[in-house]
Amino acid sequence: MKNILSALFVAIASVAFASDSFNPWEQITTPALGRQEIFGGYNAGCLQGAHAPQETGIGYQYIKLSRNKFWGHSSAHSYVADLGKTLRPSGISLLVADVSMPRGGPFTWDHASHQVGLDIDIEYLQDPRSLSRPLTVQERERLPKYYLADTDANDIISANWDEKYVTMLRAAAADQRTQMIFVHPSIKRKICQNSQNRKPWLAKIQPWWDHHEHFHVRLKCPSDGSSPNCKPKPEPTDIGCDGAELAWWFSDEWRQMYEARKKWRQDNPNPVPGALPALPQQCQTILGEPR
Ligand SMILES: [Zn+2]
Repeated sequence: MKNILSALFVAIASVAFASDSFNPWEQITTPALGRQEIFGGYNAGCLQGAHAPQETGIGYQYIKLSRNKFWGHSSAHSYVADLGKTLRPSGISLLVADVSMPRGGPFTWDHASHQVGLDIDIEYLQDPRSLSRPLTVQERERLPKYYLADTDANDIISANWDEKYVTMLRAAAADQRTQMIFVHPSIKRKICQNSQNRKPWLAKIQPWWDHHEHFHVRLKCPSDGSSPNCKPKPEPTDIGCDGAELAWWFSDEWRQMYEARKKWRQDNPNPVPGALPALPQQCQTILGEPR
């Protein structure tokens, strides 16, 4: 788990000591024209020809449209539409939050990834109204958070748990287009407790910080050869229920780190943003195209 430890301290240090807070990617409101193409990776990349989604469809709705972070690769939007159709017969309607900014690229605070239109945040919140009608745009701006896990207790909130979340995560992970899905560690542990869930799809469900009110789907690079400069990541194959990695998230070492992170945030309510990642050269061109 040393890699997670060192990655975190690097992240905290870069937030604390960087000085340039201007992020041009967050100033852009329109996609770069031209053929849809991804450059770079999930944590350091951009997107040409991003697509806006069809905002509502069978079993899904995009929320918080005013954030203008619904732009994505077309494969992300078709994945959402397919997942909604799959889950709607189970009485589920997905509330889909951030994908990417109009040209992808790095965020100052919101996300470390979500840079190439292939990362999708989906709320655990289920709004019963959305099973009978699409919520209005205004309603979709003001939805509450629904927490499946308590981060301080590092455990599931039993009163909020429902087997439908396994149904959601199984369908999301079993899709061939999915590379991995991030959830709160206690959610992974909860799913592992049912031996019937110990199937290959569960390998794609990865424990990570937060992710207690939404899960984060990461799709693979498009398989049609249209983005040869999209930087892939390998698909996890270890179901991971009994291994050292999941156990670490419930260890004393994890608790120490959690408390240190929490204290650092309390002591630094207005941290200076970190430096932006080095992006592929094509991203400069995409950034400079007419707005
Ligand atoms: Zn996310």
